[in-house]
Amino acid sequence: MKDAVIIGGGLAGLSAAWRLRHWDIQVLESDQRIGGRIMSETRGPYTMNWGGHMFAGGGSSTVELLAETGTASVKIPGSLQGMAMNGKYLSTGPVQTYPFRFPMPLSSRASILKTGAKLGKDVLRYTQAVRARAGETGEQRQQRIYDFENDRTFADYLGPLNKDAAGFFLPPALRSAADPDQLSAGAGIGYFSLIWNIGQGLGRAILGGASTLTEGIAQSMRDRIDLGAVVNEVVQNKDHVVVRYTKDGAEHELKARTAVMATPAPITHRLGVNLPDELRDALAQVKYGVHVAGCILTDEQGPMPYDGTYGIAVAGKSFAVALNQGNITHGRETVRRPGGSMMTFSPASLGSKLWDVPKEDIVKQYIRELDEIFPGFEGTVKEARVEKFEFGSPYCFPGRAKLQPTLTRPTERVFLAGDYLGTLYTETSITSGFTAAQRAASLLSTRRQSLTPDAA
Ligand SMILES: Cc1cc2nc3c(=O)[nH]c(=O)nc-3n(C[C@H](O)[C@H](O)[C@H](O)COP(=O)(O)OP(=O)(O)OC[C@H]3O[C@@H](n4cnc5c(N)ncnc54)[C@H](O)[C@@H]3O)c2cc1C
Repeated sequence: MKDAVIIGGGLAGLSAAWRLRHWDIQVLESDQRIGGRIMSETRGPYTMNWGGHMFAGGGSSTVELLAETGTASVKIPGSLQGMAMNGKYLSTGPVQTYPFRFPMPLSSRASILKTGAKLGKDVLRYTQAVRARAGETGEQRQQRIYDFENDRTFADYLGPLNKDAAGFFLPPALRSAADPDQLSAGAGIGYFSLIWNIGQGLGRAILGGASTLTEGIAQSMRDRIDLGAVVNEVVQNKDHVVVRYTKDGAEHELKARTAVMATPAPITHRLGVNLPDELRDALAQVKYGVHVAGCILTDEQGPMPYDGTYGIAVAGKSFAVALNQGNITHGRETVRRPGGSMMTFSPASLGSKLWDVPKEDIVKQYIRELDEIFPGFEGTVKEARVEKFEFGSPYCFPGRAKLQPTLTRPTERVFLAGDYLGTLYTETSITSGFTAAQRAASLLSTRRQSLTPDAA
């Protein structure tokens, strides 16, 4: 019997596996690659990236994991204030001046300024409400974040927006994976707080690409990771857990003293057949938006208009944001070398619209639209690929707050991990993986101490 079986080899499962690495563990991952929604590849000095790419900094579980695994990270160089709208690209000067510099009628400017003032005020209110308080636990703070304005949608909060105001404010909000009529008001406001305060939010990149972290952990325990192992059922018994899975067409069964389920919530709901009813019910209510992401490697020989900018919000295209991955390389050079890497990202309804479109066609559309924003871009393309993620990111909807106590209440020997347990994406995956590992390790240590030396 194994000490622990970990179901899912994404960031949450690997974080749990890392912390349990001195026990007898097995990781079961359905895909043929490790990492889940962390997906990057290097090309010379550049990284092509299709999944999570911005990581938490100071004082976070992410920083702990990076330090423990010896993975180098850097503060993301460049601004997040690029924006393309109504045929113009802006990246410098205060964002508050953008409505005056993009071509648009006076009425649109007034609408943007009015909404911006309201959002600015509530981002401040949000920042104060969710600030860490002395003596409270991370769970208490997380509950407060979910509770903030959780009884109405972001669309209700914003009120009607004209086309330009929608183009100005919606691309950043869509990155939450939900449209404004799905997202809670608090989560919409919180998203602007996250991106307007980059230093305090997700502001770090992993050198060599995000997969350097996941592949590095996997490499340190490669004989204990089963790829292509599709788990079908997890049954919790009084003193052990039974995991049934299929690999290479054959059925297998694994027994372990504990299990960490690090699959997306709807999958955990399906596999965890005898988890408490209330928990299974809460798992079924967690909501995700799809993500479609592209990455384009370029071979330009000189500077590009987007040099020095990492994040570019885009209005009126099939993607909401472009992320200049090449800037992680260029931002640390004294002389700009040729080439670059640009990620495009279609979350929420933008991703749904592309879901059934063949990937080759999406690649063409992304390149064409980037060329409209940055004339000449198409001529620099060297390689491009698109990936689709059904469970792109979980989002906070009205009513989500009341599920949190149930989702985080420990069960007997099956512990849950994954980004759906909090609001900070990769940081939540890692924190929840650490917590699940800690609970499993406590149970395993208690058992060892109650055994006679011979039996142990
Ligand atoms: C395009 C994109 C951009 C993003 N950008 C950011 C960002 O900049 N910053 C950030 O913090 N986050 C970002 N995210 C979100 C971030 O990637 C995720 O929050 C995080 O990677 C989720 O990790 P996880 O381990 O919780 O889940 P997952 O990565 O989904 O891992 C779950 C694993 O379980 C496996 N699995 C599923 N079913 C089974 C089964 N039956 N048996 C065995 N295994 C199974 C899956 O194959 C997968 O490997 C982004 C996501 C995407 C898609």
